[in-house]
Amino acid sequence: MSNTLGVDLGGTKAGFVLADGDGNFLYEKSYPSPFQRTSRLTAGGEPETVIDAEMTDVPAERRVAAYLAKLESEFLKEAKRTAGAAAPDRKGYSLCGKTWTQDGKIVMVGSNAPMRFAADFGSGRSGIIVADAAEGSQAANDGNAAATAQGIYYRAVSGIEPRETGYIILGTGFGFGIPFYSALTEIGHIPVRAMPDWLLQECGCTEGRRTACAENYASGRGLQETARILLSMEGKPELEASFPGRPGPGPCKLVSESALRDGAADSKRIMELARGGKDGLACFIEDLAADVTAHAAVTAALLFGLQVIGAGESIALHHPWHVRRIAEKADALTAGNNMLRPKLRIEPTPLRDPAKFGALSLVVPEERYEAWASKMAAVKKNGTRITTDETDAHR
Ligand SMILES: [Zn+2]
Repeated sequence: MSNTLGVDLGGTKAGFVLADGDGNFLYEKSYPSPFQRTSRLTAGGEPETVIDAEMTDVPAERRVAAYLAKLESEFLKEAKRTAGAAAPDRKGYSLCGKTWTQDGKIVMVGSNAPMRFAADFGSGRSGIIVADAAEGSQAANDGNAAATAQGIYYRAVSGIEPRETGYIILGTGFGFGIPFYSALTEIGHIPVRAMPDWLLQECGCTEGRRTACAENYASGRGLQETARILLSMEGKPELEASFPGRPGPGPCKLVSESALRDGAADSKRIMELARGGKDGLACFIEDLAADVTAHAAVTAALLFGLQVIGAGESIALHHPWHVRRIAEKADALTAGNNMLRPKLRIEPTPLRDPAKFGALSLVVPEERYEAWASKMAAVKKNGTRITTDETDAHR
């Protein structure tokens, strides 16, 4: 059975994994991403990256591909030497940005990828060349790649078509993916509902103006920033006047009585306090996050015609009760909706770590889906295999 190479290109790391046809990992290793910054500046005064320091002889527009090709060759040599693993005949690329194929190259643009490494393809189109688009190669944005891994699992286990499934990222960030989809699904920047002006936040998508983007309330970073703003509003009349009609104590009382006033008000502590239901402010912030996520998930389900959405990454993994609350809110939003049939299901992803299989999943042949599904269900985040009993305990 032939081998598959998965390349996961992020802003700080470039991960390589070699797997056999059944999804067994033969060898894996991470290297610094070509986009990882050093602490220095370039001659042009821009933040220096690893490839400015290491690939000075290569023209800027070929530097990323040359660096990745060098890593790949090192990685495959090491895999052969230490694990006896044969070279791959298929390659999947999970990339931190939008990606397409042009002039026989896999090309990307992304917020972590400096455009000074981009090639000009004419007609105003430019992008960073990642690799040759060889036969058997496939690339996708990382959210869509993780969604592909999860979609293969749903297809094998529940018979649901991958394109009717979605993957929602509930971690430090808030994102979304659809299997085998080539465009970006920027769910994090949907303005989901009216927010009081004082709760708008700066967002990477819009310079110079604060926004009500979904990720400002639904992501780990958003939970933390929302807490910081709410705590800073203690005693202010604008705070008390906001969110009218909410049952229970007013927002000012929630703030003045919150344990978050002392110690860290990070996403971990907010979610832990909200879980017990004892801290009104933490519950308020979690409720807002669940509400925003439910609105965004229902929007995505209607746009893409989805039956099921699996939620993954740190917040979903540690707080499945939060995912259940999102599902309840989505149920309430879609009650009686004729467009969503069968009824939309939102649940913690059945996989431990879809992102780990994202790149590889892009090139798995359909006849191997079942073997891959069972392998994906049995792998922990660190890549070690666990028993079936343990796997079931996590469902
Ligand atoms: Zn935004």
